[in-house]
Amino acid sequence: MSGLPENGAARPVVVFYSQYDEPEAWRPLFARHCPGWAFQVWPEVDDVEAVEVALVWKPPAGMLNAFPRLRLIINLGAGVDAILADPHCPANVPVVRLNDPGMATMMMQYVLYCALHYHRNFPEFAQAQKQRRWHYIHPRPARHTHIGLLGLGMLGGFVAMELKRQGFTVSGWARTPKQLDGIATSHGACPAPEWLGTLDILVVLLPLTPQTRGLVDRSVLQALPRGAKLISVGRGAVVNEAHLIEALRCGHLGAATVDTCEQEPLPPEHPFWAMDNVTVTPHLASVAVPESCMAQIVRDVEAVRAGQRPAHVVDPAAGY
Ligand code: NDP
Repeated sequence: MSGLPENGAARPVVVFYSQYDEPEAWRPLFARHCPGWAFQVWPEVDDVEAVEVALVWKPPAGMLNAFPRLRLIINLGAGVDAILADPHCPANVPVVRLNDPGMATMMMQYVLYCALHYHRNFPEFAQAQKQRRWHYIHPRPARHTHIGLLGLGMLGGFVAMELKRQGFTVSGWARTPKQLDGIATSHGACPAPEWLGTLDILVVLLPLTPQTRGLVDRSVLQALPRGAKLISVGRGAVVNEAHLIEALRCGHLGAATVDTCEQEPLPPEHPFWAMDNVTVTPHLASVAVPESCMAQIVRDVEAVRAGQRPAHVVDPAAGY
């Protein structure tokens, strides 16, 4: 990486903050790939004036405003809603999201696992086992299961292609037109009820923006066929949880896997915990993989130091 300080000048600092990611997994990578930089973990920062790059996941409100020479904010993930929601986030500093092959693979594996779980009737077998019942359900080929994705972005598009490769019938919906080989796509303000009505499994992989908040509501859920399954891996607040609970309780929806919730951590009194047809995981469908992210991070830092625009800058107006 360029930008080595001259004549003993203080080294520029990359400040790291995450409650979940391990800084010690990143430190040796920065030492190897960015030897001219100091890697410091917030709040242990020697000199806020030396901080030029922030590598952060859900930083505390106001933290990003503490560095007068900040040039680049790298979000340690794909969804930037937490950073953009901070009113003190410096408006003139570009925010980039990671486009990490490791993160995409992890998301794909999570969704594929859930899709296979439902497609191969594992919830029914778990129920039958509790009753010591030999419950034969004749397996169907994957193409009989139609999986729809809300969101066909860097992660959503990759997941869709892999589900297709596994033999599922896959289609998807996004804001703007998309072309994905072998995958029917649509776009617009709302997913069409006619399309929703053909799905066995709906995967929600949308970012949280003013337009997507609460988008998966009663009308979307009711448009799904009776017994359909939901896999929610985008952001919790994209799904109206009260409407989801209602649809699950009345039997209209067969089951849901919920990795992201309106309130995280999910409070102990939340109905999801006690619902037999809900699987909750604590927002970990995918995470940034340090080794596979580092090439992008080095390129982004070099770009801003050279006065160029880094890749994958998010549009604060769009929210993703
Ligand atoms: P991208 O930002 O690459 O893509 C977002 C997709 O959503 C695009 O296809 C976009 O449409 C679509 N979209 C956005 N707004 C609307 C709208 N109003 N109506 C219809 N479609 C819309 O995101 P990724 O695919 O990389 O990731 C999606 C989200 O997954 C992240 O924002 C994050 O919140 C979440 N996530 C969750 C993780 C977890 O562990 N559970 C881990 C990582 C990410 P278009 O292409 O037309 O712009």
